[in-house]
Amino acid sequence: MGTAGKTVSGRCLCGAVTFSADVAKHDVDVCHCSMCRRWSAGPFMGLMHEGEVVFGGAENIGVYKSSDWGERAFCKLCGTPLYWHLSGSDTYSFSAGALDDQSGLRFTMEIFVDEKPAFYEFANDTLRLTGAEAMAALAGGAKSEEARDG
Ligand SMILES: [Zn+2]
Ligand SMILES: [Zn+2]
Repeated sequence: MGTAGKTVSGRCLCGAVTFSADVAKHDVDVCHCSMCRRWSAGPFMGLMHEGEVVFGGAENIGVYKSSDWGERAFCKLCGTPLYWHLSGSDTYSFSAGALDDQSGLRFTMEIFVDEKPAFYEFANDTLRLTGAEAMAALAGGAKSEEARDG
């Protein structure tokens, strides 16, 4: 466990898969893209993490490669979406809903707002980026964000 990071843990609905990691921040971003909504039954609420992840029950993790750069993991037994993963990296976006303790989370950003359907709207005061804006703003550093639509 690192000194600067905070440990988060999570699990799927049936408990066959668990995960934990030392995360740098507790900021949650939401992706409104059509892929995330189809995958997770709503806008995907993710906690970004770069680094090591400890998995339990890894044999129960199914991985769907949804693009050339993105993978989406789920529990093979109960179907819970677990995380989005930037292929070939240690960058993950954990499903906020799968986290055991959600009390310290902060909802800070929405991306792909241009793909958001009209039937819902968050009242939270967040940074809101279109897909193009998100890709442009984040092309330099956090490639995971630009690639979320994948
Ligand atoms: Zn499960
Ligand atoms: Zn998305």
